[in-house]
Amino acid sequence: MSRIAIVSAMHEELRALLPLLQDARTERRGGRDCHLGRIDGHEVLLALSGIGKVAAATTTAVVLDAFAARALLLTGVAGGLGAGVHVGDVVIARTLLQHDMDASPLFPRYEVPLTGRAHFPADPRLCDALAAGSVRVLSAPHAALARFGIERPRLHSGLVISGDRFVATAGESLALRTALPEALAVEMEGAAVAQVCADFGRPFAVLRTVSDRADDCAHVDFARFIDEVAAEFSRDIVRATLSQL
Ligand code: SAH
Repeated sequence: MSRIAIVSAMHEELRALLPLLQDARTERRGGRDCHLGRIDGHEVLLALSGIGKVAAATTTAVVLDAFAARALLLTGVAGGLGAGVHVGDVVIARTLLQHDMDASPLFPRYEVPLTGRAHFPADPRLCDALAAGSVRVLSAPHAALARFGIERPRLHSGLVISGDRFVATAGESLALRTALPEALAVEMEGAAVAQVCADFGRPFAVLRTVSDRADDCAHVDFARFIDEVAAEFSRDIVRATLSQL
């Protein structure tokens, strides 16, 4: 088991990583194209998570089981919830929770039934490596940021929450902030990946670039932001992170 799986939520992110892959070969399992090869001398596997918790859980099981990945890095975009979490910032998930998990009154709100917990921690060493990689990338000048009115992107780490819902109204984001005040960002895959990695006992970490504030304001241009900012951040941060592992 030597390979690290780099799982992208968005195809733009995978597209940015693929040109770096040496000796590439693709195998298809469980409906997933898994691209095997090396990046900067590291054995890696690149795959798309798919969108939502079930898709991401399936991809995670495939890369951990069929391809025996020893660790997993998930990248993607997210809606900012925390007060100081702005578009263009980067969030590292130290802990993840499914905000739409509710088997109450049988189990406490958010607890994943039969696991005894709601919070799934990411691997501290991988998080530290991602944080160091993020600091390096965020402190370098990035031409595309000005086009989106982003001056100085910041790095945050803490709770990231996931659910099968794109949060796009101020009311819903307020409800999430009230129920889970420590949540920094909301997305649709991370906590599912975390649960599967916990089942397999493999380390993982999650990196998210904030693409929106999870409210009614339509983002300037979601697709362009992902192409020009998020996919480049993901690629450069993953590369800087691999260099420390
Ligand atoms: N248009 C994209 C699909 C985007 S789905 C495509 O065709 O590929 C939304 C993705 O962004 C998911 O990966 C989700 O994790 C993340 N995301 C970004 N902002 C979000 C928000 N406000 N609420 C939930 N998920 C969000």
